[in-house]
Amino acid sequence: MKEDFLHAIWEQQLFRKGSLLLAGKDEVKVIKTGFRNYDSGPDFIQAKIILGDLEWIGSVEIHVKSSEWNTHNHQYDVAYQSVILHVVWEKDLEIFRKDGTVVPTLEMKELVPLQVVLRYRSLVQNEKKKISCSYFLPDIQSFVLVGMQERVLVERLERKGFEILERFESNKKDWLETFFQTIAWCLGLKINAEPMLILSQSVPVKVLAAQGWKTESLAAIFLGVGGFLTSTNGPAGEKLKADYDFISQKYGLDKPQILWKMFRIRPGSFPIQRILLLAVVINNLSSWFGLLTEAESPVEFFRQIEKSPKPEILQSYLKESGYQITGFGISDFIRENLIINVFAPFLTALGLYQNQPLWIEKAIDWLNQSPAEENSITRFWKNENVEIKTAGQSQALTELFNNFCLPKKCMSCQIGTKILKTETLV
Ligand code: SF4
Repeated sequence: MKEDFLHAIWEQQLFRKGSLLLAGKDEVKVIKTGFRNYDSGPDFIQAKIILGDLEWIGSVEIHVKSSEWNTHNHQYDVAYQSVILHVVWEKDLEIFRKDGTVVPTLEMKELVPLQVVLRYRSLVQNEKKKISCSYFLPDIQSFVLVGMQERVLVERLERKGFEILERFESNKKDWLETFFQTIAWCLGLKINAEPMLILSQSVPVKVLAAQGWKTESLAAIFLGVGGFLTSTNGPAGEKLKADYDFISQKYGLDKPQILWKMFRIRPGSFPIQRILLLAVVINNLSSWFGLLTEAESPVEFFRQIEKSPKPEILQSYLKESGYQITGFGISDFIRENLIINVFAPFLTALGLYQNQPLWIEKAIDWLNQSPAEENSITRFWKNENVEIKTAGQSQALTELFNNFCLPKKCMSCQIGTKILKTETLV
């Protein structure tokens, strides 16, 4: 038995309420369960109960055993002196406030129906199944599943948005610099995300702007700063190296130590190909920020990228270096990655920064216009017959899986608490 179960029991009032007696004495009637308190202090605040003939308004504290009140030193803590009801699974000790008065205690173990306890156990003790509610899922109404997905999608976007805002602060509140770095990080495709971020942090956007955003010059800078032009294999490499040497000297560019991951990478994803793709994509960066806020859909972004020139020299350089020349095209996979990991989080960051929920709604809208990802997590859900059509759904279900299902936080999940509540189940 864990406290999170008792929180759900109290919040949803999943106990027999006929005539509630406090340790066999006073009768208690619950008028309001109160609001969940996620800060320090008692678990629920502003609860309302009738105890005997008197109405009480105050806090509710929850423990598995009543003696935990003393173990946690609540008897000395001012914040707990407003507790009007101590809700416990088992009352093993009488509890007193600082002033010596008894804290009314409601023992749950005889009040919670066995069926509810069994459902709870099957959720949190099901070690075999990663989605432990799979037995109950077919009976869960779609609005419950959709409601939880909407909640976790916003949580996921906000987390990613705050990460972008941290980068924005360290870039002295420069959106364009932050946008460039986020795109570079995304194009690194997890395995080389950090190296691509370091690369982008070593090249100020103003240097790129000074080159007129010319793809060939951007490629020369990125390859040089990335450490790929130390030795060259032909005229294309020589030309790019000469450009880089000139620009680097002119602007005093850093050449950081970057540890690129070169192994176990699919063809087309080698760092050089990612770097050339960055040069192609960034060619339009100056107009992208306006597009982000003005475009109705991400399609307009990709129309712009498709217009970006792919200079012959880049293909020659790849050939000379022994790589596939297809490595810097915009595949569907790259498109979806940019929407999921750059555009939607960036819109969310804007929304959080400007306190404008409209941008967050737009981020969700763009995700819902994009196809779902295919990965091991989405396959888990599909095996449970959960429909996943859009990136909004796949992102939400990834968040739900990682942050709720795996750590067995079913009691904080709307689906889990619904399962406890539904009388028709089992
Ligand atoms: S967290 Fe929610 S969706 Fe995940 S297993 Fe538990 S009840 Fe099911």
